[in-house]
Amino acid sequence: MIKLSKCYLEEDELHAVQQVFAAAYLGMGKQVFEFESELKTFLDTSKEVICVNSGTAALHLALACLDIGPGDEVLVPTLTFAASFQAVSATGAKPVACDIKAETLSLDLDSAKKYLTPRTRAIMPVHYASHADSLPALYEFSRLHDLRVVEDAAHAFGTQYNGKLIGAEGDIICFSFDGIKNITCGEGGAVVTDDAILIERLRDARLLAVEKDYLKRKEGKRSWDFDIQHQGYRYHMSDIMAAIGRTQLRKIRQFKEKRQALVRHYLQALSSLPSLILLSLDYDHIMPHIFVVRVLNNKRDGLKEYLSQHHIETGIHYKPNHLLTRYKTDYALPQAEKVYQEILTLPLHAGLQEEEQTQVISLMKEYLSHA
Ligand SMILES: *Cc1c(COP(=O)(O)O)cnc(C)c1O
Repeated sequence: MIKLSKCYLEEDELHAVQQVFAAAYLGMGKQVFEFESELKTFLDTSKEVICVNSGTAALHLALACLDIGPGDEVLVPTLTFAASFQAVSATGAKPVACDIKAETLSLDLDSAKKYLTPRTRAIMPVHYASHADSLPALYEFSRLHDLRVVEDAAHAFGTQYNGKLIGAEGDIICFSFDGIKNITCGEGGAVVTDDAILIERLRDARLLAVEKDYLKRKEGKRSWDFDIQHQGYRYHMSDIMAAIGRTQLRKIRQFKEKRQALVRHYLQALSSLPSLILLSLDYDHIMPHIFVVRVLNNKRDGLKEYLSQHHIETGIHYKPNHLLTRYKTDYALPQAEKVYQEILTLPLHAGLQEEEQTQVISLMKEYLSHA
């Protein structure tokens, strides 16, 4: 079976976990603080990094600490993982589904403009397939309408945009380190921002909003006498997760090169196939998390089935959220609905062998040339 996605773990991750076992402290401690500091160095930013236990928690916590809640609305592209929508609705706010552009499958700002209301508090662009789309226009729009920007950068850890890594600039950037993302902690996530008030809220809110508890933990102590002013969550990262993440971060260059080489091979081999459209992404600068193509002429499902019969796993990223019962809209989002019938995600992960990829490509050529 050729897997669609997969974590890439070696002996050194296991060794890092063994060291945490030996230290016999599994909660949020030294490893997490070291990881936060190494992430800050890696991103080359003056912003602070706040580690949490998932990308979904990062998004939810960011919105909650902005005091976004019932009565508020957040603009979000419909073509995203359910996590983006669930994070918004978890606060009590309404995720307002917007359409996407067929060329990049990212948020269409013109669509977002249509759904702006006096209740809109934030916009959540999703860096689909690791490509950040038209950020200057998006930030200009948010300034004009006094919106906060919460970037769902779950796909985009390691991606360069305008010469800087995603996370180095912007308002609030959320990453995921789940098992199949560009680097993993097993599960995990992070919020990155330079908003001083928000930073304090986030640091506390992930630990049940026990004030300054994270500072005590830095000294290896616990808080017994404390105050709580806000709603908090049990969203902190553990030392086991951070130890895995630190090891992965040291290998990111290798992971990025591997993923980019696989994508270059796909692009070159698939560029002139009938019924196939490649996305217009900034392939030279992204750290690709998924590789998505559009299959035209109603051939997507047949191709998916054909590859599956040959033991190749593919995916569909994603079913548009506005088609789900909880997030159903009374308006259509035509681009997303159209591309939903066409998109196919091909195998891409740091452990994918060249022969395996060659097999995927030749089967695709076979199917699309003859069907
Ligand atoms: C993975 C992902 C998330 C959530 O991250 P988890 O760490 O799995 O909770 C959010 N948004 C998108 C687009 C993702 O792919």
